[in-house]
Amino acid sequence: MRKYVVMGVQGSGKGTQSGLLSKAFDLVHISVGDIFRWHVQHHTKLGAQVRRIMAAGELVGDDLVEAVVGDRLRMHDWNYGFVIDGFPRNGRQAEFFLESYDIDGVIHLDLPDEEVRRRVLNRRLCTRCGMDYNLIADRPEVEGRCDVCGGDLVTRADDTPEALAARLREYRSKTRPVLDIFRRKEYVVNVDARPDPDTVQREIRKQLGLTSG
Ligand code: AMP
Repeated sequence: MRKYVVMGVQGSGKGTQSGLLSKAFDLVHISVGDIFRWHVQHHTKLGAQVRRIMAAGELVGDDLVEAVVGDRLRMHDWNYGFVIDGFPRNGRQAEFFLESYDIDGVIHLDLPDEEVRRRVLNRRLCTRCGMDYNLIADRPEVEGRCDVCGGDLVTRADDTPEALAARLREYRSKTRPVLDIFRRKEYVVNVDARPDPDTVQREIRKQLGLTSG
């Protein structure tokens, strides 16, 4: 059983790296942001509660986040373990998490602010299948269309310069202290998130001592 947390500022590749890692090792990828986006897209009651907060780049309240994560983990569909990204994002969430789960490692994807801005402002998302594109590194073949399902590509509501600035502030003030908590327990591996996704993934596996897929 392997349980990992992936942390990093927006645009650092949390979703991509969690996806690659979970696929290779049969782990379940849990993305709290994706769960919320699903609810917003499907106009659920939860979606209505979080839509404005997300669009402003602010953090959703802890009670709501903990309920969503708790429900998701209680599904116990993770026979070989899980990779959770986007959680915990502050000290209280970290304590809640560590009370119930022992973790094997925290992957910190490190990215300088100017690279964060460049990536995030060029990010596009498929409205139909959720596939993520970047107009710098992996452009869709047809502009504005998803290569996989043909859906419309849009900018995430929270990928604006204003929302990004808010998220960077939130990250610095609230999420960095979480890393410090995990560092004290010696869980954290630091990975340079600037290279291409495969190189970053290789480095993650090397640092975690994971050899086979
Ligand atoms: P992400 O896709 O991880 O960047 O998350 C998108 C948005 O969902 C964030 O900007 C927050 O508004 C919300 N969110 C995701 N995870 C959390 C969390 N652990 N705590 C609070 N809000 C969250």
